[in-house]
Order: sequence, then structure tokens, then C-alpha cells
Amino acid sequence: MQVLAPRATDLGGLEVRRLLPQRPRRMVGAWCFLDLFGPARFSEGRPMDVAPHPHCGLQTVTWLLQGEAVHKDSLDSEAVARPGALNLMTSGSGIAHSEETPVRNSGRLHGVQLWVALPDAHRNDPPAFDHHAERPLVEIGPAQAMVMLGELAGVSAQARTFTPLLGAELRLPAGVDAEVPLRRDFEHALVPLDVPCEGDGERLAVDHLHYLEPGRDQVVLRGGSGTSRVLLLGGAPFDEPILMWWNFVARTREEIEAARDDWQDGRRFGQVRRYAGARLPAPEFAGARPVAANPMS
Ligand code: MN
Repeated sequence: MQVLAPRATDLGGLEVRRLLPQRPRRMVGAWCFLDLFGPARFSEGRPMDVAPHPHCGLQTVTWLLQGEAVHKDSLDSEAVARPGALNLMTSGSGIAHSEETPVRNSGRLHGVQLWVALPDAHRNDPPAFDHHAERPLVEIGPAQAMVMLGELAGVSAQARTFTPLLGAELRLPAGVDAEVPLRRDFEHALVPLDVPCEGDGERLAVDHLHYLEPGRDQVVLRGGSGTSRVLLLGGAPFDEPILMWWNFVARTREEIEAARDDWQDGRRFGQVRRYAGARLPAPEFAGARPVAANPMS
């Protein structure tokens, strides 16, 4: 297994741990961005307050383990993400959104922020937002899985996807083995979220991404010292080269520059009318190495 350690990044005061993209591995299937945040406890303030910003060429997936986050967007959507619920935003050619800890909150925050690259055939579709209040559950031996996107062990999530893709949260009781079926044509990643566990006899460290190449029928997970929650991602290897800069997934520098200009000049992405406050300005586009730039959330 290839192992990626997290990189600490500051996101407007919220410290996140970034697992994708990294130089040794930029994607797992169409999954092209993965941030972990929390677990945090707070008694005042709102640790998450990401002002309106634009996206194109991707889907954003907000998946919480504790706490809550409000999504607002330029389609006038407003939805609270909570544990077990999925906020899925499909940017298509362009959308803007904000993400905040709500004023009434549990004082906790722990979660995962992911992006999915859209394939060329759909990356200029109209934008959409979907809130799924519950996700299907499937038993895998002694383990339980919540299926965010795609299909696992015969159970499918009804969520918009545009390439063959899997996202699931596994709950693995202490000390037991679970044979998790995998698709041979997918590459996969395992990320323990709270308690270390084992995969095929190797120790899987918390907040580290463990990459599995295509060609596997299963992975045998063994629980650690307490119930482990493990993020399982998978997908068919994404065969279109992408460029990522700030919040954009594109194919060429010209597209990135056009998206930046459109945001700065108030075109294409719309306004997040439900957000009280200023929107985020785009950083300067130095243009030299857009792939290496620092994406937002
Ligand atoms: Mn965002």
C-alpha cells in the first residue's frame, strides 16, 4: 500500500489536514481533493466560516462525523450537513457557495471535505445541489457501512455521480475481521478517521491515506482497540488530465484564468444571497504552476 501522510493547512482559521492532492498521488478515481477537519470542541464562535467562493468542473462532498455545517449557494439552496447526511454540490460550469458552523450548534466539529472531478462530457452541465438526509446502510460481516456515493456490497446510494465511484464510511468493531468487497477495476483508498486498524495485515494510521491499486477483489480489515471509523474511497482511474487551481478543476490554463476573471468580475457563478458577509476574492493567478496551487474547500 502507498501511504500518504496529511499536510496541515489553514483554511481561514480552521486547521485542516490535507490528504489529496499530494505530489505522490493526486487522485483516487475521480476523487481529487480530500481535507479532514476536527475533531474540535468549542464553546463560542464558529470554527467554520468559509465565505462565498466559486467552483467549476467538480462536485463537492461534505461528510460530517460530528457537529453540523450549513451550506448556502447561488441557486439559493440552504442545507445543514450532519453525521449520516450528505451534502453534494455539482458545480458543472459554475456555482458559488459558503460553508459555516450554524449559530445553533453542538459545539463539535469533525468531518471530511471531498471533491470529485467531473468528466469532460459533464463538466459544463448546469449546476445542482442535493441534500441526502440519510445514507443506506449495509452489513459487511461484523462491520457496518454507510454508503455515501456509488455501490458497496450490493447496496447503492442514490446520489448523482458521473464516473464509476465509491464513497463509504465503515464502522469496524474492536478486534474483529471484515472482508470488504472491492471492484477489480477500481483503485481505492482507506483513511482511518479516529482509531487505527489493520488492512490486509498492515497497520492503518489515523488520518493517513492508504492507497490500493486496481485488481483487488477485497481488503480484510481488522478492528483496533475501539470501534474504528474508516473512510473508503474508490473509483475507476480518471483518465483525463486535469488542472486544479484555487477552487477550479479545469483542463487548460486559459480556462482557469477565465474562471478567475469571471469570479472577480461577477459573472458566471452567481451570488450567495443567503450569506451575510463579503465573498472571498480570488488570489492572484501567477500562472506558472496551477496544479501546485492551494485549493480551498
Ligand atoms: Mn467550496
